[in-house]
Amino acid sequence: MSDNGTRQITQPIYYDDGKVIHACKSAIMESGVRRVWTKCDMDVPDDQGFTIEGEGPAITCPECWAAIG
Ligand SMILES: [Zn+2]
Repeated sequence: MSDNGTRQITQPIYYDDGKVIHACKSAIMESGVRRVWTKCDMDVPDDQGFTIEGEGPAITCPECWAAIG
């Protein structure tokens, strides 16, 4: 596996879609664009993901919750 220019953002990102709170994954693409998506594989709209200092919110999406373990 090679490093193709993407890098992980280490701070956890959350996404509230109005119903449940998802846990997110993110990466900076080679073009410099930050891409964020949920652990249940939904795309997160630009600037809709959020981070929280310290303890994060409870993940209420069952699929994301299962993905975290
Ligand atoms: Zn989810």
